[in-house]
Amino acid sequence: MDSRFKDFETGHEAFRKIAFNKSKERFRKLVEEGQQPKALFIGCSDSRVMPAMITNSRPGDLFIIRNIGNFVAPFNPDADFHATASAIEYAVSILEVSDIIVCGHSHCGAISALYKDIVQTPENIHTIKWLELGQEAKKVALLAHRDSSPEVLHRYTEKISVVYQLDNLLSYPAVRKRVEEGSLYLHGWHYNLEDGSIEYYDDENFEFKPLIQK
Ligand SMILES: [Zn+2]
Repeated sequence: MDSRFKDFETGHEAFRKIAFNKSKERFRKLVEEGQQPKALFIGCSDSRVMPAMITNSRPGDLFIIRNIGNFVAPFNPDADFHATASAIEYAVSILEVSDIIVCGHSHCGAISALYKDIVQTPENIHTIKWLELGQEAKKVALLAHRDSSPEVLHRYTEKISVVYQLDNLLSYPAVRKRVEEGSLYLHGWHYNLEDGSIEYYDDENFEFKPLIQK
């Protein structure tokens, strides 16, 4: 067996012995009383972005959706299967979270893929379709940073995309209604892989600012 896979087994053993044991009471309570997460976290599937770790969250704190590029497809009720949309509805209407965080990140493969010519094959058909959700951000980023380095252009696209996904969230009736009522708050974050810091979108000043002042 691949020794890296074996690591998951020994890792699970360590989890049972240490982390689970430490939070045993909390887990028991979460089973008895059910979950009441504070926030819905929409993040990228990227293995380097760990929502619970970067927010120091405990079991039961975050309801999490992860997908390629932390995209939110606009509300589009049709006969298809919509994993992200159904999780948004569940978090908002059933669990009644008070906050939704859309968290992008630096060096996002989905965002850099927007700048590559990818040939469609039967192996990437869903990925190419899904990446359309970043196209608007790419257009705006190119207007502002066409002549910048790929590094600057990509960081900018990652951030603009977060703002677009927040807009897409508002296309969900359940979200819009609660935001307008003042019972639900939307947050746009950008996580930096290099130093573990987070910037948030300040929608009054239209800029990203450090979440924590150093
Ligand atoms: Zn990513």
